[in-house]
Amino acid sequence: MTYKLQRVPILPLGMINAFLLQTAKGAVLVDTGLMGTEEKVGTQLKKLGLGWDDLKLIVVTHGHVDHAGNAAKLRELSGAPVVIHQAEAKYCAGEAKMKLCPTGWVGRYLYRRGLPLEPYTYFTPDIVMHDHDELDLRPYGLDGKVIFTPGHTPGSISVLLDDGQAFVSDLLASGYALGGLLPVDRPQRPPFEEEPLEVANALEQLLAMGSTHFHVGHGFKLSAKAVERHIHRLRAL
Ligand SMILES: [Zn+2]
Ligand SMILES: [Zn+2]
Repeated sequence: MTYKLQRVPILPLGMINAFLLQTAKGAVLVDTGLMGTEEKVGTQLKKLGLGWDDLKLIVVTHGHVDHAGNAAKLRELSGAPVVIHQAEAKYCAGEAKMKLCPTGWVGRYLYRRGLPLEPYTYFTPDIVMHDHDELDLRPYGLDGKVIFTPGHTPGSISVLLDDGQAFVSDLLASGYALGGLLPVDRPQRPPFEEEPLEVANALEQLLAMGSTHFHVGHGFKLSAKAVERHIHRLRAL
């Protein structure tokens, strides 16, 4: 399998990341960023020599605004199907508010300002994963799958490639505050987290399945060793 990984900086300094995976069959996008940031994705597609038509799948890891906020717009531009887990459907449809459990001052600050619950263009997904369903990515030219990794939210999903690259969004974060101001191998809890023990289980499952590099929504990538440390920390909470 050959593919090219392109990080999409929705905000600078790793504060919000999406990811493009380019294959012989086009590209898969992991997360969509905030509303109105489609040019950030367009720029990275262009860098890969691709246009909107080359985008073949949009994976929305969970319903938070910084990951799901621009899904409707990106689908409109590309025509690519959007996949989410069934447990996030009511949030992405705007039918329920997400439960926000701040993990520290950043979360509390964002919560007070109401930013995480800001409305976005809600949508109905094209592909819905149920329970522990996996979505095979081979039809998109990638040796890997989308798997169910709940904890951060009830229906969080991750992309795991056979070569060990894992795209885990907000299962964990790195650096300081929202972003990667300290881009070292130092894991953090994201600003919000619903079930830390479920997150620990999901991370353990990813390690057991062979994940070696963890790409995150906020911050820079983490090693398996750093993730192991984080699991211990979560279990000790
Ligand atoms: Zn989140
Ligand atoms: Zn996030």
